Amino acid sequence: MFYLFFYIFLNIGKAIIKFAGDLVKMDQKESPLCSYCNSKKVIPIFYGYPTSRDYQEYERGNLKFGESIILGPKPDWHCKKCDKSF
Ligand SMILES: [Zn+2]
Repeated sequence: MFYLFFYIFLNIGKAIIKFAGDLVKMDQKESPLCSYCNSKKVIPIFYGYPTSRDYQEYERGNLKFGESIILGPKPDWHCKKCDKSF
């Protein structure tokens, strides 16, 4: 009986650690390399209604607003070096 509780406790602990790890990953949101020129100068493209914080990032050049009017594939990243989205 004790081992059963221990086993459940251990698995809950693992799940919490994994969840916390995912949260950290989401927060960091590391930019990929450009798929055209392998540059690291890649910024995320924002879709939807921007908050004031998003707008500050945009003014600093750390964020690009996507054109949500255009239907079709929506690229997630924009390369500042070769000016391409992917
Ligand atoms: Zn590029």
